[in-house]
Amino acid sequence: MSAEELVSLGAQAAAQALASGQIAAHELYEIYRSRAAADDLNCFTWVAEQTPAPPAASPLGGVPLAVKDLFCTEGVPSQSGSRILEGYLPPYTATAVERLLGAGACLLAKTNQDEFAMGSSNENSAFGPVLNPWDRSRVPGGSSGGSAAAVAAGLTPWALGTDTGGSIRQPAALCGIVGFKPTYGAVSRYGMIAFASSLDQAGPLTRDVTDAALMLRHLIGYDECDATSLDFPGEIALPTAERLDGVRLGVPEELTGEGIEAGVLAAFHATLALAEQLGATVEPISLPHAAHALSAYYVIAPAECSSNLARFDGVRYGMRTEAAGDLTEMYTRTRHDGFGAEVKRRIMLGTYALSSGYYDAYYGRAQCVRTKIVEDFRNVFADVDFVVTPTAPSVAFPLGSKTADPLAMYLNDFCTVPMSLAGIPAISIPCGLALPPEDRNVTEAASGGGLPVGFQIAGPAFSENRILETAFALEQAIGFDGGTVRA
Ligand code: GLN
Repeated sequence: MSAEELVSLGAQAAAQALASGQIAAHELYEIYRSRAAADDLNCFTWVAEQTPAPPAASPLGGVPLAVKDLFCTEGVPSQSGSRILEGYLPPYTATAVERLLGAGACLLAKTNQDEFAMGSSNENSAFGPVLNPWDRSRVPGGSSGGSAAAVAAGLTPWALGTDTGGSIRQPAALCGIVGFKPTYGAVSRYGMIAFASSLDQAGPLTRDVTDAALMLRHLIGYDECDATSLDFPGEIALPTAERLDGVRLGVPEELTGEGIEAGVLAAFHATLALAEQLGATVEPISLPHAAHALSAYYVIAPAECSSNLARFDGVRYGMRTEAAGDLTEMYTRTRHDGFGAEVKRRIMLGTYALSSGYYDAYYGRAQCVRTKIVEDFRNVFADVDFVVTPTAPSVAFPLGSKTADPLAMYLNDFCTVPMSLAGIPAISIPCGLALPPEDRNVTEAASGGGLPVGFQIAGPAFSENRILETAFALEQAIGFDGGTVRA
């Protein structure tokens, strides 16, 4: 097989070709390694220098894997996109990574991300921004922006990411690939450098739905090292559905109106029409508290991050700023030099929200809203199988266009945060292209008709298999070529 043919194989196809002896693991790995090493989108924080020994017979049989920087990986730099973890080499490997390596995947690279996974554009990384392979003047989304761009550009067959408020789904949408955030607890968080522990969840970024199912199959499972780990009922199957007869899709009015770009809405509605042709019914529903999800999230996530990030003090991990004065000065200077602006903003917000006298007014209140959102979903899932929305309110936006306005940046998570607060699974699949409203550089010819739009499908806890079937049937009908390598 030629190099192009090898790179055009998705993970599942590559695993099959490896198993049948059609291709050799070291050959596949070396092609990706040289592509990753030559990457000019800034997708990676580390690329392997050597081809590892070929794995023994195993389900993934040597398929290369890129992993978001925040997964601790033994002996491999793991900085969560932050300066403060410069030089940190974890003594152990995160369970999620361990499971994929155990199934035969080969670690190819660590991917760039927003610092401590805080961001929606990958512009908050200490390693610099990642460029979107569809248009290099635009962001890939965040915080798993390196993972998404690398998959879209064919620099890895697939990648592992994390999602706290949308960080798998939104970059997948902006890069035209598939991203799946599983049920909270289905995948172990052990060894993930924490952002907001009650929300963080690992999951796949892949070229298609089949690959997402394949990765998820190997990711899920109970882990005694994670106190919130759950035993997933059953196994993840590779999807085969062609029809959607009897499937009820609920469209929440609160997440599909104002604030969403016209081109994104058009692609979303075209996909709903396709779903109906496949036999699904589409019904309007209401998630009455969804409009408050962002406000609750931006209290809860910063509160948890201010607590989680207290451990980075110059003593235990990573860098230390030498200070002339006492211990307190060393802490202060290390944190001053080591954390970027967005992380500092969140630590301050979170510390304030948790401070005595304000705790009930902010954190307690936000938790009440979270409960209301959980109830909203419980109510609608009595009537419909899935809640569907556009994944992100816009297509990929120009680099630098939102960095000065944190609130505009936070609005990117408008459609993804409610599911995160409820802990329910949700996938984003590419559903077409739309031209950005504001940019005239992207001509239809240059962009192939526009930039990718994501379609989000969310279901109740543990509905992963049903979500995958629905996403697969839609993917086949949409015909978006996930195998297309953009670079
Ligand atoms: N963009 C959101 C934030 O900045 C979500 C990030 C994430 O899911 N890790 O918090």
